[in-house]
Amino acid sequence: KGSLYVVATPIGNIDDLSFRAIKTLQQVSLILAEDTRHSQRLMTHYDIRTQMMSLHEHNEEARIEQIANKLDDGQSVALISDAGTPLISDPGFKLVRELRQREYAISPIPGASALICALSVAGLATDSFSFWGFLPSKTNARKERYKELSEHKETLVFYESSHRIADSLNDLVDVFGERHVVIARELTKNFETILSGPASIVLEQVNNDSNQQKGEFVVMVEGLSKANEGLSTEATSIMTQLLTELP
Ligand code: SAM
Repeated sequence: KGSLYVVATPIGNIDDLSFRAIKTLQQVSLILAEDTRHSQRLMTHYDIRTQMMSLHEHNEEARIEQIANKLDDGQSVALISDAGTPLISDPGFKLVRELRQREYAISPIPGASALICALSVAGLATDSFSFWGFLPSKTNARKERYKELSEHKETLVFYESSHRIADSLNDLVDVFGERHVVIARELTKNFETILSGPASIVLEQVNNDSNQQKGEFVVMVEGLSKANEGLSTEATSIMTQLLTELP
């Protein structure tokens, strides 16, 4: 039987593709790509001429039998996403779960993931952290998510899109007060920027410079510790308001 290779691709800098990833992509009989047109650039750059087929959230289930048949035929298949490691806030989970249940060989070809890249340079604790993928897009739901996590002791990691970064940081300040925050923007690309400091200072830097609102972001928040157990700004303002209303 053939194997499924889950292959990480670059998150920005096209040179971040391993030799093994290139060899694998050249040698398999089919590459499953989230967006075949997007990935064509990478294939052209590395002279990879393998046939590509799309695998995205809308057709993932329908593709499973087709892929299992190929593997049964002794052909190997690679799975890639638009950037970084497949399955990490990207398609592939249903395919991998099903093929693993059926005991097919599935092997990782490791490489970039924005989550790990960001943590490796943030200067926040990495002995324990939790990853929450994309934050909800609406303020109320986002604040709820932040509140649910506000007493976690481990470093919190989120993905955020450029059009929501300012609003998202604003909500973060409301819930976490002055908690230490690091945002990693455009990692491995020309405008790579890491901003680090108390949440309100990072928010100010982002608000004051519209360039800091462009691109792709990983948002990281220091876990709750003795030092930052104080009340959030929102809690403080509610307390102040309540106190003024007391008889
Ligand atoms: N599978 C990818 C991975 O392993 O990192 C993540 C895919 S997810 C659809 C895309 C999100 O990842 C972006 O919105 C951003 O939050 C984060 N991201 C991807 N590339 C990034 C980069 N170069 N710098 C900062 N964040 C990035």
